[in-house]
Amino acid sequence: MIGPSQAYSPNLLDGERMRQDFEALARFGATPDGGVSRPTFSDAHLAARKWFLARAEAGGLATHVDTAGNHSAVLRARHSSDARVLLLGSHLDSVPGGGRYDGALGVVAALHVLLACKGAGADLPFTLEAIDFTDEEGTLVGLLGSKALAGTLTPEFLQSPRGGRQALVAGLERAGLREERLFDARRDPGLLAGYLELHIEQGPRLEREAVQIGVVTAIVGSRSFRIVLRGVRGHAGTTPMDARHDAAVAAAKVILGVREIIVRDFPSCVATVGDVRVEPGAFNVVPGVARVALEFRSQDEGELDAIESEVLARIRALAEADGIGVEISPVAHWQPTGLDPMIWGAIERAAADLGLTTKRLPSGAGHDAQALAAVTPSGLIFVPSIGGVSHDPGESTAWGDAVNGANVARR
Ligand SMILES: [Zn+2]
Repeated sequence: MIGPSQAYSPNLLDGERMRQDFEALARFGATPDGGVSRPTFSDAHLAARKWFLARAEAGGLATHVDTAGNHSAVLRARHSSDARVLLLGSHLDSVPGGGRYDGALGVVAALHVLLACKGAGADLPFTLEAIDFTDEEGTLVGLLGSKALAGTLTPEFLQSPRGGRQALVAGLERAGLREERLFDARRDPGLLAGYLELHIEQGPRLEREAVQIGVVTAIVGSRSFRIVLRGVRGHAGTTPMDARHDAAVAAAKVILGVREIIVRDFPSCVATVGDVRVEPGAFNVVPGVARVALEFRSQDEGELDAIESEVLARIRALAEADGIGVEISPVAHWQPTGLDPMIWGAIERAAADLGLTTKRLPSGAGHDAQALAAVTPSGLIFVPSIGGVSHDPGESTAWGDAVNGANVARR
């Protein structure tokens, strides 16, 4: 991955040392059930980031923190006149009650790629930088550090962040960061050689097919909508079944209708109703209002358009048939991000050199790579998640698989 492979010694990185560092890192924010809880700028998160810099320095690497709080270890090209930087990284923040592998594996692997290159005295064609991006998971904003670095973060975007404005202001203060200076973390794309991220799959496909390395072709886009269904509230004892306009029943039909459309017409996509609240919410009242949170994802923008029109038309038709009013408002719209086909090829060649099996697949989850892809050739390597479990303390990856992924990145 870091240039013509014959220029480098073939030695692999130190998987055992990498495991020790991975386990040291997993102690920050460790939960009794074996997971970690490291929401952005929590004490555990700040301590993990500090550990990362100290570990890099102990390994003889330079370190750097930018104005968006992104933490980096740096190995400079000694002889090359090309001053561009190849970024390798992921994130050390986690969802509350998350797992140990999501993000942390990519950061530790990036660090060990640098250590292995340094140890081998590799004559690098680029400067290598292992980077821990700020707030990937969106405790505060989502992809905060990677968007700042890519230059796609806007002041407007920070006005109504998903974690709330107050949490953002308080969090930046805790971390010693200034909101107006977040934008100064932008890098000139001309100085970037590319970005490569190793991440757990967070889904079951690689494990199911017994494939060792996932070559991510695209990161799916998503759209989300708030749907309010308005029926008629009634006495649960005296309103006959055939005289009801029950908002909860309408919500149930919406859930099943959405599922049917996706399974039948868009088999490569996913849709989720992740929240339903009915009002007033009592045993003895026929619900008058149901509020439904709908989200769907695809790697193709045209397909997102098609799902949107088909699903929303179905919801309107179902509501009308039951005499229920419906209001639909869009919440978020993320475009699909294609990753660089040259990098797919490079990952596949590196894996083949190591005798590892590969499969091309899209990523259903968001990653820092999607922010970087806007400005520099970007790639994402997946390793299998045991049982497809993620954002859960039970999240795990066989260590051999994790090291395989790091070795692919190293090449
Ligand atoms: Zn992640």
